[in-house]
Formats: sequence, C-alpha cells, structure tokens
Amino acid sequence: MKIGHILKETSFSISFEFFPPKTPKGEEELFNTIKKLEHIKPTFVSVTYGAGGSTRERTQRVVTRIHRETEITVMAHLTCIAHTRDELKEILDYYKNEGIENILALRGDPPKDGLAKQGCHHSTELIDLIRYLYNNHFSIGVASYPEGHPESPNMEWEIRFFKLKVEKGAEFSITQMFFDNTYFYRFMEELGKAGINIPVIPGIMPITNFGQIVKFASMCGATIPQSLIDRLEKVKDDSKAVTDIGVEFAIKQCEDLIENGVKGFHFYTLNKSDATLRIYSAIRGLINR
Ligand SMILES: Cc1cc2nc3c(=O)[nH]c(=O)nc-3n(C[C@H](O)[C@H](O)[C@H](O)COP(=O)(O)OP(=O)(O)OC[C@H]3O[C@@H](n4cnc5c(N)ncnc54)[C@H](O)[C@@H]3O)c2cc1C
Repeated sequence: MKIGHILKETSFSISFEFFPPKTPKGEEELFNTIKKLEHIKPTFVSVTYGAGGSTRERTQRVVTRIHRETEITVMAHLTCIAHTRDELKEILDYYKNEGIENILALRGDPPKDGLAKQGCHHSTELIDLIRYLYNNHFSIGVASYPEGHPESPNMEWEIRFFKLKVEKGAEFSITQMFFDNTYFYRFMEELGKAGINIPVIPGIMPITNFGQIVKFASMCGATIPQSLIDRLEKVKDDSKAVTDIGVEFAIKQCEDLIENGVKGFHFYTLNKSDATLRIYSAIRGLINR
C-alpha cells in the first residue's frame, strides 16, 4: 500500500523505524521486535540505509522480508549521495520488482573523504529521478528538520528547499528527532505560511542511553533541554533509570503533541520494542485509531 494514500485515510498514524542489523543474530532479534510491535498494527514501518551504500543488500533484504513475512506496509530509506544514477536505478528496480511501493528519498551525509559519486546532489534530484523513471509507482516521503538541517543557514532556506521537495513530488515527511515541541510548532506554522500541507510526522526518539543520545543529538543538531540533560546525567550509568526518564519524557512530549493536534508519530526504535511499547500504551487512550 502507498503511504501517501494511507495517511489520507488514517485518523492517527503510528510508525516505527528500524536499521538493518549486521549479523544474522541481529536480524532475528529485529524480527522478534517486529513481532512484538506488530500487534499495535503500525501504519507502516521503515528501514534505514547507510549513506555510503554500505547497507544496500541488508536494507533490501530486511525490507523484502518485512514485505513478504508480515502484513505491515514497509518503506525503504534510500540515500543518493554515494551512488551513481545507474546504481540508484538498480536499487529502485529491485524494490519495484519486489512490490515495494514506498521510498524515503534522502541525500545522506556526504562521505568524509569527499568522494561523493554525485549522481544526485540533493534529495530533490532523487525525487526527480524516481518520478521520471517510475512515474507514480512509488509513494515518496522525505526528511524534515524542525530545528533546521545543520547545513541550512536559516529557517527560510530550510522551508524553501522543503517546499521544493514537495513540489517535486514528496507526499509526506518524517521529522528529525526533537525534544522541544516548540521547534515543531514553529516549523509547522512556517510550512502553513508557505502553503505546504503534506503530512509531517514527528519523529520521536525514546532515550535509553545517555552517551548515545548526546552524540546523536549533536550530530543532527537536535536540542536536548538542559533540565532533561541534568536529570539523565545524574543516573547515566544506570540504564533502567535512564530508560525510565526517557520514556516518561517521551510520553509527556507525545501528550503535548496530541493536545496540539498532531495526527501521528514515527518512533525511532533502534530495533528495540520495550520503550516504544511503554510509550504507546500510555498514549493510546488519547488517540483515535
Ligand atoms: C526521518 C529521517 C530519516 C533518515 N534516514 C536516513 C537513512 O536511512 N540513512 C542516512 O544515511 N541518513 C538518514 N537521515 C539523515 C539524512 O540523510 C541527513 O540529514 C542528510 O544530511 C540530509 O539528507 P536530506 O535528504 O535531508 O538532504 P537534502 O534534502 O538534500 O537537504 C540537505 C541540505 O541541502 C538543502 N537542499 C535541499 N535541496 C536542495 C537543492 N535542490 N539545492 C540546494 N540545497 C538544497 C537543504 O535545505 C539542507 O540544508 C535521515 C533523516 C531523517 C530526518
């Protein structure tokens, strides 16, 4: 099923993001996680892609397994920066032949050695390529950044190129993780002013590891409120205490987003189900699905 279409019909969407594990054991653990999350009836799930193309086969295999072995709609992430156009076509042909209908079209972070293959410089060109080669076979999602992408000099720039992604054919978007809802509300207001009205699904990251979240957040430019850092820092070596604080924070964050009219969440699961299930069971009475 095409996610762009599903989102039009769904009153509240719940989706989960996974990464393709490196080992067969990791893959089996992931499929156990998926089994536990499946009973929630996710609107869709997505599988990430290594920007350098390193996970090409693994992403394809996990996406295909989810498509064949479960009832869940699946979306493949695809980054264009390290591929030629021919390579991108090969990957997209594979998905088309497997009956996959959803792609999250991304640029990816440029390789550190600067040796980008430059088949497509930006996600906008990948969207063009997909629409040119496959017309409407794929429903296309894109990334969005409520605090601005680290390369965007200001929010005006951010909105300008987000609008271009929509004009090229993006049907929905998932945001970078954020921990201060004010950024999301401001971003949505700016999108409204720019006449952009595709669904923008907030990306929710349940915090389960202090060191890891500080690193992730600084890499992608997400602000963690100082009061949350202070609470986490005090218990940083106690993983249960960190998870409890992270889950409690995410529940409050989701409650506030629901109160403010949000119609879906995309959970960054890191291939684990526990924290996400705890958050979902706390908020499910508030959402109409
Ligand atoms: C929901 C989500 C999922 C992600 N999944 C993955 C993943 O699976 N694998 C991975 O490696 N990374 C992933 N990322 C990270 C992403 O690849 C990086 O943030 C990357 O640096 C930018 O990708 P993009 O698609 O947003 O790039 P772009 O849309 O190309 O934007 C990058 C910068 O260029 C600007 N820009 C956009 N179009 C143009 C244009 N035509 N001309 C000039 N400037 C332009 C933008 O404003 C922005 O500043 C994900 C991010 C999010 C939010």
